[in-house]
Amino acid sequence: MKLNFELVPDSCWYSNLRSILSPAQWDAVRKDAYARANGKCEICGAETERLEAHERWAYDEENAVQKLETVTAICKNCHEAIHIGRTELMGRGRQAEEHYMKVNGCSYAEMRKALGEANADHRRRNRVPEWKLDLSYLKKFI
Ligand SMILES: [Zn+2]
Repeated sequence: MKLNFELVPDSCWYSNLRSILSPAQWDAVRKDAYARANGKCEICGAETERLEAHERWAYDEENAVQKLETVTAICKNCHEAIHIGRTELMGRGRQAEEHYMKVNGCSYAEMRKALGEANADHRRRNRVPEWKLDLSYLKKFI
């Protein structure tokens, strides 16, 4: 799948990079992603002047390490689909599901299956009491 649901563990919802980095540092990370994207969503390819920076994490559950893999520049629709939990709370869950199916060329059943798997990953990761953050990706910006 090109577009995947990424449910961040609850403990991390409010400790995103914008609160760890200074505004100038976050700006450098964001602009690096936008420069690579060159005006196109890095997931669906939509051309937009309003790209959003998305932090992609990898989870090592055995060692409780949450690693920042990259920061990508994506469109609002892809961003809302990725964070479908939050998007549903804003009443835009249906649109996010439709965008997911369109980008991935998948059926409703396949989308629901992927969402079920993402939710199962999410529940399991929420049982980790404390994630250690690996932010080595940011070294080149600091
Ligand atoms: Zn997109």
